[in-house]
Amino acid sequence: MALLIPVLLLVGLTRAWWLLIILALLGVLRWLGLRGWALGATGILLWLAAAGAKWRWPESILSSLIAWRVETMLITLALVVLAVLFTLLLRYLHSRSAELPQSGPGLTPLRGAAQVAPPDTRPSDDELMRYARHIVLRELGGPGQSKLRKAHVLVVGAGGLGAPICLYLAAAGIGRITLADDDKVSVSNLQRQVIFRSSDDGRLKAQAAAEAMRALNPHVEVTPLMRRITEGDADLLRQFDLVLDGTDSFAARAAVNKAAVLAQVPLIAGAMSQWEGQVTIWDPARGAPCYACLFPTAPAAGLAPSCAEAGVVGPLPGIIGSTMALEAIKLIAGAGQPLRGRMLIFDGLWGETRTIALHPRADCPVCGGSGHSVSG
Ligand SMILES: [Zn+2]
Repeated sequence: MALLIPVLLLVGLTRAWWLLIILALLGVLRWLGLRGWALGATGILLWLAAAGAKWRWPESILSSLIAWRVETMLITLALVVLAVLFTLLLRYLHSRSAELPQSGPGLTPLRGAAQVAPPDTRPSDDELMRYARHIVLRELGGPGQSKLRKAHVLVVGAGGLGAPICLYLAAAGIGRITLADDDKVSVSNLQRQVIFRSSDDGRLKAQAAAEAMRALNPHVEVTPLMRRITEGDADLLRQFDLVLDGTDSFAARAAVNKAAVLAQVPLIAGAMSQWEGQVTIWDPARGAPCYACLFPTAPAAGLAPSCAEAGVVGPLPGIIGSTMALEAIKLIAGAGQPLRGRMLIFDGLWGETRTIALHPRADCPVCGGSGHSVSG
C-alpha cells in the first residue's frame, strides 16, 4: 500500500495511464492467485507489450493513452528490473548468513575457536557484497564465512609466502590475523613479495604488510608483531586457531614447529626453492606428522640453500602461498580434505603436481610420533 501513493503521483504527473492499467491487471491476476516470479514476468510482458504497441501503431487510440516515449518505457523497465534483482540478492545473502554455524562438519573443531570469537554481530551489507562469491559456495556458505570471521590465525614470516597468504586471508575475511616478522623490506624482495610497494623499501615488513591488509579489507583486525617466533612461544600460539609458516630456514621452521606441537595447533607449512614448492599441514595432535618427524636434524651446509642463495622464480611463492591460504580456509570452514598427513609437491618447471602420504615417526624427538610432545 505504501507504494501506491508514489505510483499514483508518478501516473498523475506523467499521464502514464497505461501504467495504471497494467497495475490494475496485475492486481486482478494477484487476486486470482498469481504470485512471485509468474506475476513479475506477467508485469514485464504487459510493459513490453505496451511499448511494442506504442512503437508499432503510434497513431492508434491505445498509443494516445501512453504519453511516455518508447525509449523511456524500456529504460524505466530495465531500472525497475535491476532494482528488484538487487533487492532479491541482498535478501538472499542475508538469509544465507543468518544460518549460524554449530560445529565444523567432518572436522575436529579448531582449538580456541570459542574463546576468540568476536561478538555475534550480523554482517554488514558491505561484508555480504564483499564475500558474495564465498557465500554462494556450497562448501562455505553463510556458516563457513561466519567461521572465517571468527577465526584468529598467526602468519609467521611476511616474505614470499607471507605476501599471498596475508593478502588472501585478509581478502577472504579471516577476522583476526597476527603477522610476525622482524625483517625490513628491501628492493630485492619486490620481485615476488607482491604485498609491498617500491615505496615500502626500508620499512618493517610486518608494519607495511599490515597496512596493505587493512587497506584491502577494513573488516579484518590485523596485528603486526615485529619479532620472530621461537620454540618458547607455545603459550602465544595457543591463542590461535592455526598457524601458517612462511619462513625459509631450517632453524626458523624447527622453532615454529616445536611451539606449534606444544600448543597443539595445526601448522600449515610451505617451502620452495627455485622452481619447486611443497605444502602440508603438520598436526600431530590430530594424527598427522610434525616437521621434525620428517626433518629431525638440520641439513648439511649447502644441501638446503635459502631463496637468497639458490634463487626462486617470482610467481612460485604466489602459488605455494595461495595454496597455504586455501588450506587455511578449508581447515577453518571444515571444507573438503585438508593436506593433513599429505604433502602437495608442485614442479613449476614441468607444470606438474603430485601428492605423497606422510606418516608420524614413532621416535620423533619433538612429537613422539603420536601427538604426545616429549620435549619442549
Ligand atoms: Zn614429529
